[in-house]
Amino acid sequence: MAIKIYNTLTRQKEEFKPLREGEVRMYVCGPTVYDYTHIGHARTYIAFDVIRRYLEHKGYTVLMAMNFTDIDDKIIRRANETGEDPKELAEKFLKYFLEDMKALKVKPADIYPRVTEHINDIIDFVKKLQEKGYAYEGSDGVYFEVRKFKDYGKLSKIKVEELVKGARVEPGEGKKNPEDFALWKKAKPGEPKWKSPWGEGRPGWHIECSTMSTKYLGESFDIHGGGSDLIFPHHENEIAQTEACTGHEWVRYWMHTGFLMVNGEKMSKSLGNFVTIREALERYDPEVIRLFVLQRHYRSPLDYTEEGLEHAKNNLERLYNTLENIRVAMERAEISFKWDNEEFEAYEAIRDGRKKFYDAMDDDFNTAEALKAVFEVSNAVNRYLTQVERPKESILRKAWEFFKIVSEVFGIFEDYFREEKAGEEEALIKLLIDVRAQLRKERKFDLADKIRDELRNLGIQLEDTPQGTVWKRIKI
Ligand code: AMP
Ligand code: ZN
Repeated sequence: MAIKIYNTLTRQKEEFKPLREGEVRMYVCGPTVYDYTHIGHARTYIAFDVIRRYLEHKGYTVLMAMNFTDIDDKIIRRANETGEDPKELAEKFLKYFLEDMKALKVKPADIYPRVTEHINDIIDFVKKLQEKGYAYEGSDGVYFEVRKFKDYGKLSKIKVEELVKGARVEPGEGKKNPEDFALWKKAKPGEPKWKSPWGEGRPGWHIECSTMSTKYLGESFDIHGGGSDLIFPHHENEIAQTEACTGHEWVRYWMHTGFLMVNGEKMSKSLGNFVTIREALERYDPEVIRLFVLQRHYRSPLDYTEEGLEHAKNNLERLYNTLENIRVAMERAEISFKWDNEEFEAYEAIRDGRKKFYDAMDDDFNTAEALKAVFEVSNAVNRYLTQVERPKESILRKAWEFFKIVSEVFGIFEDYFREEKAGEEEALIKLLIDVRAQLRKERKFDLADKIRDELRNLGIQLEDTPQGTVWKRIKI
């Protein structure tokens, strides 16, 4: 089945056809590193992580780049407030961002280009725009002349005439028209600066993404994404710069995530209503946060509430329970020589759930619907296990394989499925169970109980059944 993507450029779902067969080149705008990353950012980056994972799962080679804005007005302002060097400040928060993404199990981008390491590329790009007549030098910087680019507004559907209503060039600004935007900013005293044909200064914000994305992904590529606040002006300006420079279409599919909201407002650094990823991770497992995000379609707004997170926590627990039920049942499962009604029913539920999962993901990465299918399979397997005494290995394996797919695409249960680790652990747990049984035989109950209790603290619960001792993983 083909994947359909909602393209912000056309405001429609379109069949996804990458420019090069079998390969997807995607660029996601990265953070401005001047503060801790919050759950609003996490919403966007987890959404794109799952999009990327699904494309990989479908067999595409994905080349993904994400920029770091490691110099800009906000960084300079914050550094002045705290008395830090802007470079060191950016370095610190860039490192924290990578740590936070790792903790959230977001796969790293293939390339993380940083502005300060691409100044010469940016200067070359601005020079080209100037040569082609789209850019001009003013007293305080170099500007892009918006009216020269005929397609301006094609992404955001904003008309230049609307834009300039009531707007004016502020005193001291060196631009010709209010709608023009900076490509290069000349340095004021004390600001970080680099040499350029227009004197010392630093790049404007939008130009970095045009320069670095085309450098690494080519003059045309497949997907460009970010939060919906970036549609205007950031992405609109990126299109103007890049297409003015190359003279042809740049990005095929524009994808934008809905906001994470707090009491009706966007979670943002400037409003101060944010919860950092670090704070959230003190209270919730990273997989709870992932599931919380995936419970909504990526384009819909998502409310940050305790109930929403608790709901995700319970859902995750339910799924882990099912996995444990399957794993434990595998030990008493038998090869099938015949199927009864229960097997047919369970098989059909798994088959239908799996199809629903793929259909939902193919339909513009609808993780909310896909998750419903996961629960349908989960419920069907649990029902099956209560119905039969000796489950059939083939049914359990089908369910197991489905959950493996969910794991790969959603980035949850990954540790659980790491077989080698599980194999080693399993052998050690079995050994401890044997030792405990021996201790009990020798009536050394204190030591035996110590083994049971300590294992429980590690998330391994022993259960004594008439058939012997079995173990289960529990969430602690
Ligand atoms: P920034 O560092 O503010 O440029 O943001 C980095 C990325 O996170 C951008 O793609 C933003 O659109 C996205 N983002 C910021 N706040 C939110 C939010 N509350 N909900 C969803 N995405 C957000
Ligand atoms: Zn960008």
